[in-house]
Amino acid sequence: MRQFIIILLLIGIVFPKSEIGKDIPQKLFQICEELHLQKNCLEGVKIFFAKDIDEMTYLAGGGVPEWGAGIAIPEKDVVIILRVGSIDEQRKVLLHELTHIALHRKLRSRKDNKNIHIPRWFDEGVAQLHYGFNIHRQSQLAWAVLWRNIFPLEALERVNGFVSPHAKVAYAEAHDAALYIENYCTIGALCDSIVSAGDFNEGFLKATGISIYEFYDEWKKHLVRSYILFVLLGDSRFLWVLIVLLFLLLGIMKIIRQRLQMAKLHRQAEIEGWQDPEHFFQDYVDKE
Ligand SMILES: [Zn+2]
Repeated sequence: MRQFIIILLLIGIVFPKSEIGKDIPQKLFQICEELHLQKNCLEGVKIFFAKDIDEMTYLAGGGVPEWGAGIAIPEKDVVIILRVGSIDEQRKVLLHELTHIALHRKLRSRKDNKNIHIPRWFDEGVAQLHYGFNIHRQSQLAWAVLWRNIFPLEALERVNGFVSPHAKVAYAEAHDAALYIENYCTIGALCDSIVSAGDFNEGFLKATGISIYEFYDEWKKHLVRSYILFVLLGDSRFLWVLIVLLFLLLGIMKIIRQRLQMAKLHRQAEIEGWQDPEHFFQDYVDKE
Protein backbone atom coordinates (compact mmCIF):
# COMPACT_ATOMS: atom_id res chain seq x y z
CA MET A 1 0.00 0.00 0.00
CA ARG A 2 2.82 2.39 0.91
CA GLN A 3 4.38 1.91 -2.53
CA PHE A 4 1.04 2.65 -4.15
CA ILE A 5 0.59 5.89 -2.20
CA ILE A 6 4.16 6.94 -3.07
CA ILE A 7 3.47 6.39 -6.78
CA LEU A 8 0.23 8.36 -6.56
CA LEU A 9 2.01 11.17 -4.76
CA LEU A 10 4.79 11.16 -7.35
CA ILE A 11 2.27 11.43 -10.16
CA GLY A 12 0.63 14.34 -8.33
CA ILE A 13 3.93 16.12 -7.56
CA VAL A 14 5.74 15.62 -10.85
CA PHE A 15 2.73 16.68 -12.91
CA PRO A 16 0.75 19.73 -11.86
CA LYS A 17 -2.96 19.18 -11.30
CA SER A 18 -3.86 20.56 -14.72
CA GLU A 19 -1.55 18.11 -16.49
CA ILE A 20 -1.12 14.38 -16.76
CA GLY A 21 -1.73 13.69 -13.03
CA LYS A 22 -5.12 15.39 -13.07
CA ASP A 23 -7.64 13.19 -11.17
CA ILE A 24 -5.45 10.13 -11.89
CA PRO A 25 -5.91 8.58 -8.39
CA GLN A 26 -9.68 8.75 -8.83
CA LYS A 27 -9.37 7.14 -12.27
CA LEU A 28 -7.19 4.35 -10.87
CA PHE A 29 -9.84 3.55 -8.25
CA GLN A 30 -12.41 3.52 -11.03
CA ILE A 31 -10.36 1.07 -13.13
CA CYS A 32 -10.00 -1.27 -10.13
CA GLU A 33 -13.69 -1.01 -9.21
CA GLU A 34 -14.87 -1.72 -12.75
CA LEU A 35 -12.86 -4.94 -12.74
CA HIS A 36 -14.31 -5.84 -9.31
CA LEU A 37 -10.92 -5.45 -7.63
CA GLN A 38 -9.84 -3.68 -4.45
CA LYS A 39 -9.36 0.06 -4.86
CA ASN A 40 -5.60 -0.37 -4.44
CA CYS A 41 -5.38 -2.98 -7.24
CA LEU A 42 -2.65 -1.00 -9.01
CA GLU A 43 -0.36 -0.91 -6.00
CA GLY A 44 3.33 -1.25 -6.83
CA VAL A 45 3.16 -0.43 -10.53
CA LYS A 46 6.31 1.33 -11.73
CA ILE A 47 5.78 4.06 -14.31
CA PHE A 48 8.57 5.18 -16.64
CA PHE A 49 8.53 7.92 -19.25
CA ALA A 50 10.55 7.63 -22.46
CA LYS A 51 11.56 10.60 -24.60
CA ASP A 52 11.31 8.70 -27.88
CA ILE A 53 10.45 5.32 -29.39
CA ASP A 54 14.08 4.11 -29.18
CA GLU A 55 14.24 4.80 -25.45
CA MET A 56 10.88 3.10 -24.94
CA THR A 57 12.07 0.05 -26.90
CA TYR A 58 15.27 -0.02 -24.82
CA LEU A 59 13.37 0.25 -21.51
CA ALA A 60 10.87 -2.41 -22.60
CA GLY A 61 13.59 -4.74 -23.88
CA GLY A 62 12.06 -4.80 -27.41
CA GLY A 63 8.63 -5.68 -28.75
CA VAL A 64 7.43 -2.08 -29.28
CA PRO A 65 5.68 -1.32 -32.60
CA GLU A 66 6.78 1.84 -34.42
CA TRP A 67 3.37 3.49 -33.70
CA GLY A 68 3.42 2.56 -29.98
CA ALA A 69 2.65 5.36 -27.51
CA GLY A 70 3.02 3.25 -24.38
CA ILE A 71 3.57 -0.28 -23.21
CA ALA A 72 2.52 -2.33 -20.20
CA ILE A 73 4.61 -5.26 -19.00
CA PRO A 74 2.29 -7.00 -16.52
CA GLU A 75 4.82 -9.68 -15.51
CA LYS A 76 7.22 -6.93 -14.35
CA ASP A 77 4.50 -4.52 -13.06
CA VAL A 78 5.95 -1.87 -15.36
CA VAL A 79 4.34 0.75 -17.56
CA ILE A 80 6.31 2.90 -20.03
CA ILE A 81 4.79 6.01 -21.57
CA LEU A 82 6.15 7.94 -24.53
CA ARG A 83 6.43 11.65 -23.73
CA VAL A 84 5.23 12.70 -27.15
CA GLY A 85 1.98 14.43 -28.08
CA SER A 86 -0.39 16.41 -25.93
CA ILE A 87 -0.59 15.96 -22.15
CA ASP A 88 -4.17 14.80 -22.53
CA GLU A 89 -3.08 12.13 -25.00
CA GLN A 90 -0.25 10.94 -22.68
CA ARG A 91 -2.71 10.81 -19.80
CA LYS A 92 -5.07 8.60 -21.81
CA VAL A 93 -2.17 6.32 -22.76
CA LEU A 94 -1.17 6.07 -19.08
CA LEU A 95 -4.71 5.01 -18.10
CA HIS A 96 -4.79 2.56 -21.02
CA GLU A 97 -1.54 0.89 -19.94
CA LEU A 98 -2.51 0.82 -16.25
CA THR A 99 -5.79 -0.87 -17.20
CA HIS A 100 -3.74 -3.64 -18.89
CA ILE A 101 -1.91 -4.19 -15.61
CA ALA A 102 -5.14 -4.23 -13.56
CA LEU A 103 -6.78 -6.63 -16.04
CA HIS A 104 -3.85 -9.05 -15.92
CA ARG A 105 -3.81 -8.89 -12.11
CA LYS A 106 -7.52 -9.70 -12.15
CA LEU A 107 -7.39 -12.60 -14.60
CA ARG A 108 -5.54 -15.19 -12.57
CA SER A 109 -6.98 -18.66 -12.34
CA ARG A 110 -8.47 -19.58 -8.95
CA LYS A 111 -7.15 -23.11 -9.45
CA ASP A 112 -3.42 -22.40 -9.81
CA ASN A 113 -3.12 -18.55 -9.66
CA LYS A 114 -1.61 -18.56 -13.16
CA ASN A 115 -2.49 -15.91 -15.74
CA ILE A 116 -5.48 -16.86 -17.86
CA HIS A 117 -4.82 -16.40 -21.57
CA ILE A 118 -7.08 -13.72 -23.04
CA PRO A 119 -7.43 -12.63 -26.69
CA ARG A 120 -5.48 -9.50 -27.58
CA TRP A 121 -8.66 -7.71 -28.80
CA PHE A 122 -10.21 -8.14 -25.35
CA ASP A 123 -7.04 -6.94 -23.62
CA GLU A 124 -6.86 -3.82 -25.84
CA GLY A 125 -10.61 -3.24 -25.89
CA VAL A 126 -10.92 -3.14 -22.09
CA ALA A 127 -7.82 -0.91 -21.87
CA GLN A 128 -9.43 1.44 -24.43
CA LEU A 129 -12.58 1.86 -22.32
CA HIS A 130 -10.92 4.79 -20.52
CA TYR A 131 -9.72 6.33 -23.77
CA GLY A 132 -13.02 7.83 -24.87
CA PHE A 133 -14.65 6.78 -28.13
CA ASN A 134 -14.44 10.02 -30.06
CA ILE A 135 -15.87 11.02 -33.41
CA HIS A 136 -12.48 10.52 -35.13
CA ARG A 137 -12.32 6.89 -34.06
CA GLN A 138 -15.93 6.32 -35.03
CA SER A 139 -15.17 7.79 -38.41
CA GLN A 140 -12.18 5.44 -38.87
CA LEU A 141 -14.38 2.48 -38.04
CA ALA A 142 -17.21 3.73 -40.25
CA TRP A 143 -14.90 4.01 -43.28
CA ALA A 144 -13.43 0.58 -42.57
CA VAL A 145 -16.97 -0.86 -42.53
CA LEU A 146 -17.86 0.93 -45.76
CA TRP A 147 -14.74 -0.23 -47.62
CA ARG A 148 -14.87 -3.71 -46.06
CA ASN A 149 -11.52 -3.18 -44.34
CA ILE A 150 -12.58 -4.58 -40.99
CA PHE A 151 -10.10 -7.03 -39.48
CA PRO A 152 -11.47 -10.11 -37.74
CA LEU A 153 -11.05 -9.55 -33.98
CA GLU A 154 -8.84 -12.66 -33.86
CA ALA A 155 -6.36 -10.89 -36.21
CA LEU A 156 -5.48 -8.47 -33.41
CA GLU A 157 -3.12 -11.15 -32.05
CA ARG A 158 -0.70 -9.81 -34.68
CA VAL A 159 -1.51 -6.10 -34.22
CA ASN A 160 2.11 -5.20 -33.36
CA GLY A 161 3.02 -6.05 -36.95
CA PHE A 162 0.28 -3.81 -38.41
CA VAL A 163 1.11 -0.50 -40.07
CA SER A 164 -0.14 2.52 -38.13
CA PRO A 165 -3.45 3.19 -40.02
CA HIS A 166 -4.43 -0.50 -39.75
CA ALA A 167 -3.48 -0.57 -36.07
CA LYS A 168 -5.74 2.46 -35.45
CA VAL A 169 -8.68 0.65 -37.06
CA ALA A 170 -7.86 -2.53 -35.10
CA TYR A 171 -7.79 -0.62 -31.79
CA ALA A 172 -11.07 1.12 -32.65
CA GLU A 173 -12.57 -2.32 -33.37
CA ALA A 174 -11.32 -3.73 -30.05
CA HIS A 175 -12.76 -0.71 -28.24
CA ASP A 176 -16.11 -1.06 -30.00
CA ALA A 177 -16.22 -4.82 -29.26
CA ALA A 178 -15.53 -4.18 -25.54
CA LEU A 179 -18.36 -1.64 -25.49
CA TYR A 180 -20.61 -4.13 -27.29
CA ILE A 181 -19.94 -6.77 -24.58
CA GLU A 182 -21.71 -4.43 -22.18
CA ASN A 183 -25.00 -5.24 -23.96
CA TYR A 184 -24.68 -8.71 -22.43
CA CYS A 185 -22.98 -8.09 -19.07
CA THR A 186 -20.54 -5.72 -17.39
CA ILE A 187 -16.82 -6.16 -17.96
CA GLY A 188 -16.43 -6.76 -14.21
CA ALA A 189 -19.00 -9.60 -14.23
CA LEU A 190 -17.36 -11.11 -17.32
CA CYS A 191 -13.92 -11.02 -15.67
CA ASP A 192 -15.36 -12.68 -12.53
CA SER A 193 -16.79 -15.43 -14.73
CA ILE A 194 -13.47 -15.93 -16.58
CA VAL A 195 -11.59 -16.18 -13.27
CA SER A 196 -14.12 -18.63 -11.89
CA ALA A 197 -13.99 -20.81 -15.07
CA GLY A 198 -10.21 -20.47 -15.38
CA ASP A 199 -10.71 -20.09 -19.14
CA PHE A 200 -11.67 -17.12 -21.33
CA ASN A 201 -14.08 -18.87 -23.72
CA GLU A 202 -15.87 -20.81 -20.99
CA GLY A 203 -16.15 -17.76 -18.74
CA PHE A 204 -17.41 -15.69 -21.70
CA LEU A 205 -20.17 -18.22 -22.46
CA LYS A 206 -21.30 -18.38 -18.82
CA ALA A 207 -21.37 -14.60 -18.36
CA THR A 208 -22.93 -13.54 -21.68
CA GLY A 209 -25.04 -16.60 -22.58
CA ILE A 210 -23.45 -16.80 -26.05
CA SER A 211 -20.24 -18.42 -27.27
CA ILE A 212 -17.33 -16.24 -28.33
CA TYR A 213 -17.93 -17.29 -31.98
CA GLU A 214 -21.58 -16.20 -31.80
CA PHE A 215 -20.37 -12.95 -30.27
CA TYR A 216 -18.01 -12.36 -33.23
CA ASP A 217 -20.97 -12.79 -35.64
CA GLU A 218 -23.28 -10.56 -33.60
CA TRP A 219 -20.62 -7.87 -33.30
CA LYS A 220 -20.03 -7.82 -37.08
CA LYS A 221 -23.79 -7.37 -37.67
CA HIS A 222 -23.81 -4.58 -35.10
CA LEU A 223 -20.93 -2.83 -36.90
CA VAL A 224 -22.80 -2.76 -40.19
CA ARG A 225 -26.03 -1.62 -38.48
CA SER A 226 -24.27 1.13 -36.54
CA TYR A 227 -21.80 2.55 -38.99
CA ILE A 228 -23.38 2.49 -42.44
CA LEU A 229 -25.82 5.15 -41.26
CA PHE A 230 -23.01 7.02 -39.54
CA VAL A 231 -21.01 7.06 -42.80
CA LEU A 232 -23.96 8.38 -44.74
CA LEU A 233 -24.93 11.10 -42.30
CA GLY A 234 -21.74 11.95 -40.49
CA ASP A 235 -19.14 12.31 -43.22
CA SER A 236 -19.07 15.55 -45.17
CA ARG A 237 -17.73 13.83 -48.32
CA PHE A 238 -20.73 11.52 -48.31
CA LEU A 239 -23.05 14.36 -47.52
CA TRP A 240 -21.87 16.23 -50.63
CA VAL A 241 -22.34 13.10 -52.76
CA LEU A 242 -25.84 12.78 -51.33
CA ILE A 243 -26.62 16.42 -52.11
CA VAL A 244 -25.40 16.02 -55.71
CA LEU A 245 -27.45 12.82 -56.07
CA LEU A 246 -30.49 14.63 -54.69
CA PHE A 247 -30.14 17.43 -57.25
CA LEU A 248 -29.69 14.86 -60.03
CA LEU A 249 -32.80 13.05 -58.85
CA LEU A 250 -34.80 16.29 -58.76
CA GLY A 251 -33.55 17.11 -62.30
CA ILE A 252 -34.53 13.67 -63.60
CA MET A 253 -37.96 13.96 -61.95
CA LYS A 254 -38.50 17.35 -63.61
CA ILE A 255 -37.57 15.96 -67.06
CA ILE A 256 -39.91 12.99 -66.58
CA ARG A 257 -42.71 15.33 -65.50
CA GLN A 258 -42.12 17.55 -68.57
CA ARG A 259 -42.15 14.52 -70.88
CA LEU A 260 -45.42 13.31 -69.35
CA GLN A 261 -46.95 16.78 -69.74
CA MET A 262 -45.75 16.86 -73.36
CA ALA A 263 -47.27 13.45 -74.11
CA LYS A 264 -50.51 14.58 -72.52
CA LEU A 265 -50.53 17.75 -74.65
CA HIS A 266 -49.82 15.76 -77.82
CA ARG A 267 -52.77 13.51 -77.06
CA GLN A 268 -54.93 16.55 -76.29
CA ALA A 269 -53.71 18.25 -79.52
CA GLU A 270 -54.72 15.20 -81.56
CA ILE A 271 -58.18 15.13 -79.99
CA GLU A 272 -58.80 18.88 -80.18
CA GLY A 273 -57.01 19.49 -83.48
CA TRP A 274 -54.10 21.76 -82.32
CA GLN A 275 -51.24 22.37 -84.70
CA ASP A 276 -48.31 23.24 -82.41
CA PRO A 277 -48.49 21.80 -78.90
CA GLU A 278 -44.73 22.50 -78.23
CA HIS A 279 -45.39 26.27 -78.16
CA PHE A 280 -48.32 25.79 -75.89
CA PHE A 281 -46.20 23.56 -73.66
CA GLN A 282 -43.36 26.11 -73.58
CA ASP A 283 -45.83 28.76 -72.42
CA TYR A 284 -47.04 26.33 -69.76
CA VAL A 285 -43.47 25.62 -68.54
CA ASP A 286 -42.54 29.35 -68.51
CA LYS A 287 -45.61 30.12 -66.42
CA GLU A 288 -44.50 27.44 -63.96
ZN1 LIG B 1 -2.71 -1.60 -25.09
